[in-house]
Amino acid sequence: MTYNALAGRTAVVTGAASGIGEATALLLAASGARVALLARRAERLQELAGKIAADGGQALAVVADVTDEESVAAAAARVHEAYGPVDLVVNNAGVMLANAVSDGRLDEWQRMIDTNVTGAMRIVRAFVPDLLAAAGQGRTADLVNVSSIGAHQTFPNYAVYGATKAALTYLSQSLRGELGPHDVRVVNVEPGFTDTELRGHIDNTELSEELEGWFGAIGSLASEDVADVIGYAVSRARHVNLRQAIVLPTRQS
Ligand code: NDP
Repeated sequence: MTYNALAGRTAVVTGAASGIGEATALLLAASGARVALLARRAERLQELAGKIAADGGQALAVVADVTDEESVAAAAARVHEAYGPVDLVVNNAGVMLANAVSDGRLDEWQRMIDTNVTGAMRIVRAFVPDLLAAAGQGRTADLVNVSSIGAHQTFPNYAVYGATKAALTYLSQSLRGELGPHDVRVVNVEPGFTDTELRGHIDNTELSEELEGWFGAIGSLASEDVADVIGYAVSRARHVNLRQAIVLPTRQS
């Protein structure tokens, strides 16, 4: 599925090296948007940019670590140099690490908070002025935050991950109050189980096996399913905000 209304848009997708970000970048590019691809793995980004170009689309690989302010600033400068201001930001980079709170994994908690919350806000800081300018010129402008069903539903051993996503959902709600009156849409997407690399970073074998069991029993979305929801939301008329989308595999409640 592609969305003609996205032709001519200029997008930034964080976490574009894999999973939901990669699928979203492919969909936006296939729909005619120029897409800046942000993540840490240069090779993956180059490969994706090459694939998009081979299919007749436009993409720019930009290495960026959302936990590093200088890296985000350099990435924003590179995007602006190549494409000028952007009008569509998909704040998708994230990490999910599972641990019992009694294990006291401050290192993992900090990594999740810095990537999923502060990282998302670093991207907001870098690109919201572009969105405000685009909307001020009468164009469609979107900030999409990829949160999680974990923002609402608790899972034992995922307390800090869930808290980061609850924070992102809250930020989306709150930013709508600041940006909506300026015609910038804020869309919050909350996926359920999605088959990506995300769960591969869990270093606790027991918890990793438990999660594989849930995926096996319930099934999962493909990244493309979530990308399609994002594409649908950002291709609506600019006065229509599908502000909150929870997208789950049918067997997940
Ligand atoms: P992936 O692990 O495939 O994607 C995560 C992406 O984020 C990667 O491309 C990774 O690239 C990038 N990333 C991670 N850390 C950083 C960083 N510090 N700076 C820049 N980029 C970074 O998993 P998903 O596609 O599943 O995850 C995408 C989003 O979806 C996440 O926010 C996740 O929380 C959310 N989500 C996923 C669900 C699922 O079941 N899969 C369910 C609900 C929400 P690189 O390593 O190259 O930097």
